[in-house]
Amino acid sequence: MSFSSEIKQILCKTEYECPGCRSAELAGFFRFTGRTQAGGMRIPVSGAVGTRIRRAVEDGVEPMRSAPENSCCRIAYIRGAFLAGGSVSDPQKEYHLEFDAKADGGAEELAEILKAQGFRPKKTLRKGREVIYIKESSQIADLIGYMSGGRAGLEILSVQVEKELKSSIVRQVNCDSANLNKLARASSRQIAAIKKIKAARKWSAMPEVLREIGDLRLRYPDISLEALGKMTKQQIGKSGVNHRLHRIIEFADSLGS
Ligand SMILES: [Zn+2]
Repeated sequence: MSFSSEIKQILCKTEYECPGCRSAELAGFFRFTGRTQAGGMRIPVSGAVGTRIRRAVEDGVEPMRSAPENSCCRIAYIRGAFLAGGSVSDPQKEYHLEFDAKADGGAEELAEILKAQGFRPKKTLRKGREVIYIKESSQIADLIGYMSGGRAGLEILSVQVEKELKSSIVRQVNCDSANLNKLARASSRQIAAIKKIKAARKWSAMPEVLREIGDLRLRYPDISLEALGKMTKQQIGKSGVNHRLHRIIEFADSLGS
């Protein structure tokens, strides 16, 4: 089952808050299926959505004719529109919730109702039809939360928490690049020391193991200590390389400035 269908299943269990809500939901539903009234029409959906709408029609509920005024009825209207023409992407993939208006003017009406409830819907045209959509994760979570009477928003939110965890992994990667910067700074300090010793004509007097690592560092300024060590005759380890480079820096420092 798609994420949208799962959400719709949950929405179909939502209870009505006031007598007007059912009528408003029906109005939103018919507006988005391109019908304005139920009279004699076949309900174009099966499953839980079809059952919910059919039951309202059979109970003699009339779609609300004017714009819903109560907050609960506005939400019911939005829910009806969503059950008819709405879809929401799996938040693990992307944040996108939309209403595809099949009737002229339906999109405009819905956009106004969404705005009246504090949402910031966007509008676009697709295949000549107006589509209302929301991209902000917090708005999607709020809207689903409202439409479901508070029962479905949490699922979206938990996905959001997961996303935040992922972004902390991104931060970890950034931290690795901070380590690279650290490596670059250390390398330029080593190179400065080697150049200073050479300029003072003391390089040839240095022990051979230090000259070896120093010359490698000059040739490969960007590689890690470990990689430098593998290029030495003795294939010394990271701490050995570190130790030798330190001795070079110490010697350079002892030369004064
Ligand atoms: Zn109501």
